[in-house]
Amino acid sequence: MAHVDSWVVVGLDNGGTSNNATVLDASGRFLVDRLVETPSMVREGPEVAVERLAHAMENVLRLTGVDRSQVRAVGLDTPGPASADGVISSKGATNFSEPAWHGYDFRGALETRLDLPVVYNNDGNAAALYAHHVRFGAAAHAHSSISAIVGTGLGGGIVEDGRVVKGAAGMAGELGHVHIPLHGLLEDGQPLPECNCGFTGDAESVASLTGIEKNLLPFWLTRFPDHELASVEPLGKAAKLLRGYGENGDPLALKVFEQQAMAIGRLFTIAANFTDPSAYFLGGGVVEAAPHFREWFLEKVRENTLLREEQRRVAAVSLVDDLDMAGARGAALAAHAEIAGR
Ligand SMILES: [Zn+2]
Repeated sequence: MAHVDSWVVVGLDNGGTSNNATVLDASGRFLVDRLVETPSMVREGPEVAVERLAHAMENVLRLTGVDRSQVRAVGLDTPGPASADGVISSKGATNFSEPAWHGYDFRGALETRLDLPVVYNNDGNAAALYAHHVRFGAAAHAHSSISAIVGTGLGGGIVEDGRVVKGAAGMAGELGHVHIPLHGLLEDGQPLPECNCGFTGDAESVASLTGIEKNLLPFWLTRFPDHELASVEPLGKAAKLLRGYGENGDPLALKVFEQQAMAIGRLFTIAANFTDPSAYFLGGGVVEAAPHFREWFLEKVRENTLLREEQRRVAAVSLVDDLDMAGARGAALAAHAEIAGR
């Protein structure tokens, strides 16, 4: 059991099935080194979900032996889309499909329920903040970074001087929807990739599981018509199987993942000319892949990230680990910064 004699913050990572919770003390030490999960029940609607988050906090405090009176603030992260203040999109979202969620002030509701300040970040931004702190530690405030996290979509965030860049309307760091040059990335005759956001040829339209399913795999199956995946239904299932094929050196899979790596490299090249960060982090499914494939993919991203000689001396592209804890830990770090900065 931890002995804490000053204040703490709690980090709560709200997911589609579970909440993960952590505790961070005033000195910047995490008091749990594993997932502490409880059911999130977001499908039951906001009232139940807020209660479940309160329960997740009580649970992690009990586990770490910290008294509730020591909690100074709570960090909350959820999947988007939501405003910078944690209001769920008025159109709803994948995890928040029940109508009661549409336009719901999740952050505000939790703040009222807990009677504690609640600091909100979307899950990509929280993970970006955590990756930044893992790399730079006590010097986090003196560095900048960009994180691209490849999953169903392409998430991540931008950290400047140790803080997440949120933007005027709270829409900064939407890396997936940055347009990337497609010349030399697409094959002759390959259709322009389309994103769920309505854009054509943005980073997510290529570098995401959705991009594989909607754009890359349908095209590449026309080039490899006898491929085993051509008979797998639905296409979403085939898309999920593709990583295993890539690990085994399958030519179709390598073509798809090479295009993804090129897209991420081009996104990082834009970042290099935009904010010139101290580090480029890559996370998501590929980090969990077999080491030889992970290294191949990372090397492809590096080849396509065009840094100037001066930039190469100070910055590099690397993988983020520990993504399962990144949300809760990043959320806690954001709350900690709010309290420490007061
Ligand atoms: Zn998009």
